[in-house]
Amino acid sequence: MEVPWLLVAHGSVTALVVVSFLCGQWPIFEGTFVQSINHFLNFGAYHYLLRFVQAVCGNGAKDLVLGVEQYCCDRPNPILQVFYVAIIGVTYFIIVQTSFEYIPGYYVSGWHRYLSIVAVAVGAILFVLTSFSDPGTITAENVSQYVSAYPYDNVIFVEKECSTCKIPRPARAKHCRICDKCVARFDHHCGWMNNCIGEKNTRYFVAFLVWHFLICVYGALVIGFILAGELKERKVIYILTAYYGIENSFSGLFPHVAQWLLAVHNTQILLSVFLAILALLLGGFCAYHAHLCLTNTTTNEADFVKNQNIRCLSQGDMKCYTKWENEFN
Ligand SMILES: [Zn+2]
Ligand SMILES: [Zn+2]
Repeated sequence: MEVPWLLVAHGSVTALVVVSFLCGQWPIFEGTFVQSINHFLNFGAYHYLLRFVQAVCGNGAKDLVLGVEQYCCDRPNPILQVFYVAIIGVTYFIIVQTSFEYIPGYYVSGWHRYLSIVAVAVGAILFVLTSFSDPGTITAENVSQYVSAYPYDNVIFVEKECSTCKIPRPARAKHCRICDKCVARFDHHCGWMNNCIGEKNTRYFVAFLVWHFLICVYGALVIGFILAGELKERKVIYILTAYYGIENSFSGLFPHVAQWLLAVHNTQILLSVFLAILALLLGGFCAYHAHLCLTNTTTNEADFVKNQNIRCLSQGDMKCYTKWENEFN
């Protein structure tokens, strides 16, 4: 079988860039080239782009790029929300257009047509709930309730005033510079939701992550069963072994079955690979947030401890490192 090397190379490079960009800072990638690519994409690439734009188009163009960056990264904006809706909409549309004709199939019953709509609708509801609910905004009126609800630990959180809001900042809260407000039990500012994740909407956010992980696994499995049904109904294995004399073993049949699937069902193969990659990424996020939930920690606090640890390690101070490790666990 002729291997479509270009397709394999393109897929591998895309996967490497996406995984490096999204997960390069995870502890398991520390010291690897995945972390280096992440660093380049996050810091180096933008720096070089700015220098390139300035050299080619002058200072005005550089200011324009800086302005766009400020709008996209430093202020609330719906770009990633629109992107999310587009990804979900386009993916579901392609699935309906290309794969619903195989439902019901040999292994897939007809009610998956309706279950898929319910799955996407629930995902959309969780998205709206997380995006548009109050994350726990702290105001002069409610600040005293939050201060008594979250006692200061005098380790990470000491009693002080928010210099922007001019109100006391309760423990575990943080001033979000993008939303320009203090948020109780601040987790992080989520660009995808165009909203902070805090005390009041963390549950929706975690439900959103888990649900989208499940949707991706569900989609990849159903497409897998559609393909298995096609192999069965079209008697592909039988034809290969009986008519083409292919050896009836996994290693003998695999290249020929893969070739047939890529030729006849390339859209389904691409969809299932796309969903499987998304499921892996979302699974990682779910596991991380499950760990945070179980240890009653926020992303903000975990990042703080991580930065303290990096500082201790860089100074070779193992005693201080152990102290932060114990503080966290
Ligand atoms: Zn504030
Ligand atoms: Zn925010």
